Amino acid sequence: MIDLHTHHWRCGHARGELEAYVDAALARGLRTIGLSDHAPRFDLLDDAPAPGMHMPASDWEGYLQEASRLRDAFADRIAVRVGVEADQLADGSERYRRALDDGRLDYAIGSVHYVDGVHVYDRSKYAGGLEPEEAHAAYYLEVARAADSGLFDLLGHVDAVQVVGPTPRTEPEGAIRTMIAAIADADVAVEINTSGVHKRGAPFPNADLLQRLVRAEVPLALGSDAHDPHRVGDGFDAVIRDLAAAGVRSVVDVRRRERIPVPLEELVGTRSRGRSPTGR
Ligand SMILES: [Zn+2]
Ligand SMILES: [Zn+2]
Repeated sequence: MIDLHTHHWRCGHARGELEAYVDAALARGLRTIGLSDHAPRFDLLDDAPAPGMHMPASDWEGYLQEASRLRDAFADRIAVRVGVEADQLADGSERYRRALDDGRLDYAIGSVHYVDGVHVYDRSKYAGGLEPEEAHAAYYLEVARAADSGLFDLLGHVDAVQVVGPTPRTEPEGAIRTMIAAIADADVAVEINTSGVHKRGAPFPNADLLQRLVRAEVPLALGSDAHDPHRVGDGFDAVIRDLAAAGVRSVVDVRRRERIPVPLEELVGTRSRGRSPTGR
């Protein structure tokens, strides 16, 4: 298995050292573990403008050094990728572009956490009478901008907006179409994020959206979004089965900003390899 989305203590809301995530991946028989903690808010000048949400800017260098050291130290046992989950921000920032252009990074996940400054899981946005269809459309269009930005290798939890708030009568079809077209045009991968299972009972993106992304031939990646080492590789067996049923043949790994397709059959069963005599 390949898990490209994990966090650790520096962001202020995840548990454990980076090495604990690598150890957990090894214990579960993963072939690749991606370290991808929340990037500092490079668009703002404060060191820690949102404590508990992102790593402080002053931690960035230490993060890259420690992650790179782990990549080297574990190289003969597991592929450790040095990544980051960065925010898609409407006003963008040249500082993001410069920071993400670091030769030590294997990849950057672009995620929409804020629309108009309000966090995706903050339901107060509905207090002023915002229609859920509008909120969902604004989110998908922001994901489309993340794709267009060219900053990211993967897009994170593309329909996380469905987690909180009222359910729209219908999903905003125009915005969804715009998002899928932008993703397909940008040649960026989309992650299947299994933290959705805990947040809303199914991975991000939902089955319908996944089917449409598959039809658009969008590359897919796997991420647990683990904020605790015990969640590394969480729920991947079920996802692999669903992907195979949806006709997906491969998912991607990313190394030094290059996507590497990995056939699904190379992943099936890897979690339990070595634990039972049948290898299943
Ligand atoms: Zn987080
Ligand atoms: Zn995220």
